[in-house]
Order: sequence, then C-alpha cells, then structure tokens
Amino acid sequence: MQPTTILIVDDEPANIEVLAAVLEHYDVRFALTGREGLLRARFAPLPDLILLDVMLPDLDGYAVCSELKGDPTTAEIPVIFVTALSDPRSEARGLEIGAVDYISKPFSPAIVRARVRNHLEIKRSRALLQKLAVTDSLTGLYNRRHFDQAIEYEAHRHLRRELPLSLVLLDVDHFKRYNDFYGHPAGDDCLRRVAAAIASALKRPADVAARIGGEEFACLLPETDQVGALAVAELIREAISALAIPHASSEVSDIVTASLGVASLAGSDQSGAARLCQLADTNLYRAKSNGRNRVEGNG
Ligand code: GH3
Ligand code: MG
Ligand code: MG
Repeated sequence: MQPTTILIVDDEPANIEVLAAVLEHYDVRFALTGREGLLRARFAPLPDLILLDVMLPDLDGYAVCSELKGDPTTAEIPVIFVTALSDPRSEARGLEIGAVDYISKPFSPAIVRARVRNHLEIKRSRALLQKLAVTDSLTGLYNRRHFDQAIEYEAHRHLRRELPLSLVLLDVDHFKRYNDFYGHPAGDDCLRRVAAAIASALKRPADVAARIGGEEFACLLPETDQVGALAVAELIREAISALAIPHASSEVSDIVTASLGVASLAGSDQSGAARLCQLADTNLYRAKSNGRNRVEGNG
C-alpha cells in the first residue's frame, strides 16, 4: 500500500517544520508558495490531503483552493486551511470554496492530528463507497450501472472526436445446465473465472469489462474498430476455453464456452449507444443460433 501523503503549503518554513513534526507518521511534502503548491498537488502520487495557509506571497490560499477544486485531477483531495485569519468571514469563505475544514493558528498539535486523521478516514470511506457503487460484487468487474454510464460517455466522446467505438457482448453457453449439474456455488465460481479470463484479454486502460446480467458480460472498447474488436473477442473466447472448466451437460463442448457478438461504430457513424448495443445483441444472437462457442460481427 502507498504511504499516506500530506502536502503542506505555507510560506513560513517554521510553520512547516512544526506541522511536519506533528504529522510525522505521514509522508509529508511541502511548498512555500501558492504556485508551487498547485504544482506539487498535481504531482503523482497525488497527496491524500492538503494543509493550506491563506496568506501566501503569490496566489493566496483561496485562489489555490479554488483552482484545486476546479481541476478534476485534484478536486477530490481534501483541503484544510491552517491560518491566522480566525474571523468567521474568512473561515466561511474557505469552507464555501470547498475546503473541508479550517484550523486557526496557533494550533494545538493534538487537534491538527485528529482532524487530519478524521478527514483521511472520510476520504477513504468515500473512495470505498465510490468503488463499490461501480463494482460487480461477484466478479470484481464493473457493474451494469457503470457500464451504462461508460457507454453513454464513450458514445459522446466518439461523436466529438470521430474515433471508432466497439462493443463486445458475451453470454456463457448453456449456463443454466451448468448450474443444474454442478450447483449454484460452482456456477458462481465459474462466473468469477470467466470474468478473470475476460479481464486478462483486455490490454488497454480505457477498455471497460462489465458483468451486465447473470451470465452476460460486456466489453466496451474505445478507439477500436471492427477488425480490432473481432480480434479482442476471439482472444476472450480462447481465454475462456483455455480455462478448460468441465461442463458435462453442455451440448457444445465438454468444457465451458461462450458466444460473443461484436459491433462497431466507425468514427463518422452517428447512430449512438443504443444502436451499438442493438447491433452487438443481434450478432450475439447469431453466434448462439450458429452453434455457440463463436464470435459473430459485421465484416
Ligand atoms: P444459452 O447458451 O442459450 O445462453 O443458454 P443458458 O442456459 O446460458 O441461458 P439462460 O439465459 O437460459 O440461462 C442463464 C442461466 O444463468 C440462468 C441461471 O441458472 C444462471 N445464472 C444467472 N445468474 C447467475 C449467477 O449469478 N450465479 C449463478 N451461479 N448462475 C447464474
Ligand atoms: Mg443469458
Ligand atoms: Mg447463456
């Protein structure tokens, strides 16, 4: 696990020294000006939390905080103002522009430590909730909710940038019989292994693999044309076969197999996400009716 990193932005080295001593259990970075603070806040690994002075020689703390909150890369990093300005108006202003907390100088080390710990905990819980909201609990792939959002997002991006967009739909063959023969827990285990095989076949970070129904999966492949998507689908089909999971009651094979439907929108194609799903679904249906354990697409 990466160490927890805290960025302290303060123009007074003595303040930084005291804060760094208070927060000695964390990996502390510091900056002496607003601009340097912005630079360091964007430096990977991103800080987990920022302690920000208001009075800085160049950009003041409010401007730094506003800029951090306006940038999607840094917007989620909690900012705590640590400042000698202790009047309610200054405090309200800091909180209004997105700071999570406000600590007045001179500060008590115990309070700084406790507030930092609390805000890190809130941030961790929120990140976990965000992850759970998009994850399929059985397989660890993305869930249907995320897939629906991702395909809308990618369909818009595809239109704007005129890049191709492809979709692979996958359905495990005769999976009802698998459950009937081996039992539901074995069925769940099989789905987990199929999911891992799907994930292993996708190489680009932008690819999205999701479980969208019981034994149905989808792979969204941005900037991928029909030829590329057919190749990926075939890789997935082979990866599932290579698992060699026995399926004694399948009519297709003695191991677990899957049927895949591929569809692509060329860069100039404006037909949209719904049409892409419909095309892939038609091709999946064709893969089933042509004998299963195969990939079907257009072209
Ligand atoms: P086909 O080859 O035509 O796709 O046949 P099939 O039996 O796979 O298709 P059908 O849609 O009739 O049945 C899907 C089965 O998948 C129904 C159910 O037994 C099983 N299933 C769906 N969700 C889960 C799950 O979460 N866990 C397990 N173990 N089985 C599931
Ligand atoms: Mg099905
Ligand atoms: Mg099926």
